[in-house]
Amino acid sequence: MSSKRDYYEVLGVARTATDDELKKAYRALARKLHPDVNKEPDAEAQFKDLSEAYEVLSNAQKRQIYDRHGHQGLRAGGGGGPAGAEGFPFGDIGDILESFFGGGVQGGRPGATRGSDLRTQLELTFEEAVFGCEKELEIPRWENCLICDGSGAEPGKPPTRCTSCNGSGEVRRVQQSLFGQFVNVTPCDRCRGAGQVVTHRCVECNGRGSVRKTRRLTVTVPAGVDNEMEIRLNGQGEGGERGGPSGNLYVRLQVKAHPRLKRDGADVICELSLNVAQAALGAEVMIPTLAGDESFRVPAGTQHGHEFRLRDRGAPRLQRSGRGQLRVVTKVEVPTALTEKQRALFTSLAETFAPPPVAGPPPSPKPVTDGERSAQSPDSADGGKGKSRKGKGIIDKVKDALGIDGDE
Ligand SMILES: [Zn+2]
Ligand SMILES: [Zn+2]
Repeated sequence: MSSKRDYYEVLGVARTATDDELKKAYRALARKLHPDVNKEPDAEAQFKDLSEAYEVLSNAQKRQIYDRHGHQGLRAGGGGGPAGAEGFPFGDIGDILESFFGGGVQGGRPGATRGSDLRTQLELTFEEAVFGCEKELEIPRWENCLICDGSGAEPGKPPTRCTSCNGSGEVRRVQQSLFGQFVNVTPCDRCRGAGQVVTHRCVECNGRGSVRKTRRLTVTVPAGVDNEMEIRLNGQGEGGERGGPSGNLYVRLQVKAHPRLKRDGADVICELSLNVAQAALGAEVMIPTLAGDESFRVPAGTQHGHEFRLRDRGAPRLQRSGRGQLRVVTKVEVPTALTEKQRALFTSLAETFAPPPVAGPPPSPKPVTDGERSAQSPDSADGGKGKSRKGKGIIDKVKDALGIDGDE
């Protein structure tokens, strides 16, 4: 802190500047350095220095201490060390340290509440989900007002103790009931539980302590995410009230479908259509992969619904090492409309599968005793081909058995 810039220098005013001059200089610089306007990396730090400088110099007592003792005067007083013993004229040093030096005790501010969580959706392509990406989001949200640091009070005009609750933020009322006396504690109406009231509202936020901003955020989407997953961005939700912590932002991922690939966890699935010839003979075909279309050798005699598994060709596993598989599932398509040539070829093909119809001699007559069973057994031996043949066969055999002549 020894390298801390002089407050007058920060504001760009003379040591003799009047309150009005201070205010003017502060307003002009605040507008220029506000982190929402100024995208320089050190704008926020400069803006904080500016606010701090103004907060000191706009307060007559603090300005007097600063003029006499510089930064040391303000700090030593807070530390309670010997240097501060010298007539430090205001009592509530804890508050001052908190607002000046970011003393890390913000959570202790009365009435501080955590900001709400926010939810948003982010659409990703199939590839973006698999390989990961960086995405810009625009989030409208309430943010801590930087001019008043969330207090809602004009800088230099700090909130004063609420007189209704005497700073406690709550009101106690003694009530009588059938069961006796009890104390009802409710948040103070006047200060809404804060224990303090703002006498001069911050112009920037109109006393609210927060301002509506649309913030651009960059989200890093890790490789291997999937549809309906959620990414949590800590502290990127609504700003807290009266210096409370911000809520979180939850980003739900919506992954667009791929025309040819599907996900099953880290595995990637593609369907491979084969015609009967390719399935039977084997073929060199193209398959879609995460790296683009690739040639793939289908072996002869590939069945419908067969799954080829290509290891480490799937999506990266989330929070683990390695990748899933690429699963190629075959779909053998039987043609529904044949050309004349194809019909002829299938017919010849069919002949190679089935033996030609057997036109053997009629079976020799048998005794009647065995009845139907003996009539059926030769028929089933011919493989049950064709209803008409079967029907005729049975009738013929029954006729034979009964010694009746054939119908020709
Ligand atoms: Zn109150
Ligand atoms: Zn404000």
